[in-house]
Amino acid sequence: MMNVNRKIIIRGFILALLFVMSAVVSVVIYTHWSIRQLITPMPSNEVLFDLLDVEGGPTSINYIVTASLQDRLRGEIVFPAFVLRWADGRRFVIDMGMDDRGAKYFYEKMAWQYESDDIKVHGSVAKQLGAEASLVAGLGFTHLHEDHVQGVQRYCQLKSAKLPLFQTPQQTEERNYTTGFGAAFVEDADCVSPKVLTGAGPLYSVPGFPGLAVVPVAGHSPGSTVFVVAVEGKLWIVAGDISWTRQSMLTNQPKQVSLFRSLIIPEDETRLVELRQWLAKLDSNDLVKVLLCHDGLALQVNGPPVFKPTVLKNDSR
Ligand SMILES: [Zn+2]
Repeated sequence: MMNVNRKIIIRGFILALLFVMSAVVSVVIYTHWSIRQLITPMPSNEVLFDLLDVEGGPTSINYIVTASLQDRLRGEIVFPAFVLRWADGRRFVIDMGMDDRGAKYFYEKMAWQYESDDIKVHGSVAKQLGAEASLVAGLGFTHLHEDHVQGVQRYCQLKSAKLPLFQTPQQTEERNYTTGFGAAFVEDADCVSPKVLTGAGPLYSVPGFPGLAVVPVAGHSPGSTVFVVAVEGKLWIVAGDISWTRQSMLTNQPKQVSLFRSLIIPEDETRLVELRQWLAKLDSNDLVKVLLCHDGLALQVNGPPVFKPTVLKNDSR
């Protein structure tokens, strides 16, 4: 009797295990398939370069590093935000990086991704913006991964007025399991009010922010978005995580990842090849600079100046 019972339990256990394994494999296969369905055309160069003629565009672009680590394979990896300033005083922030606690927690979970001993924290976007935080009038995310979004938590602790978050229809609607944490930070951020960009695409202007436009690109995540901004005669392209390094974008090299990582973090490599070629070609134009979020050295060498807070009139702090 005991033997029969044991057999039934073992069979039940094996069946349950097979069921769970096939469910996991199905989710992974579905996620790989679905990101390949999100291909939209790229905007023409003509449409992109028209941004240089827009009047009243931003007067500066700068970046803030919220955290960084030294990776033995990839060099300095940074977790940045980009700050645009308009002459009327308004600021627009692209990505929020992570606050100190968020960066440490992220590293605890994700250390296996990196060849590094530690993560350094440099202060949240909210902290580094200083008094200028009150002038931020618009926000956008290159994509909804935790390392680009989590800093919004700290930002909302300081600011109660609603900040419009401009998103492409794809970033609003399309999710997969890699964007779950980031999307949850956005949903919980009570100082943020999502606004879906409208228009025919593939280049969407950001209303109220002349000179700034976005392109839904997918490839890395379903809602991956490239920001294009014309600043004083130069076109800056904030390309998120389409490539990890400037060099691999220029030479069209895929990300160096293990089979395990490429299975669990599904990307559309065919699309990424197309995007790297598109970005490298644009970057070869003297008027264009492509910025990749995590390449610390390239940001230092080819990027805009590091953000320095301006002292505001009437700021008594
Ligand atoms: Zn990232």
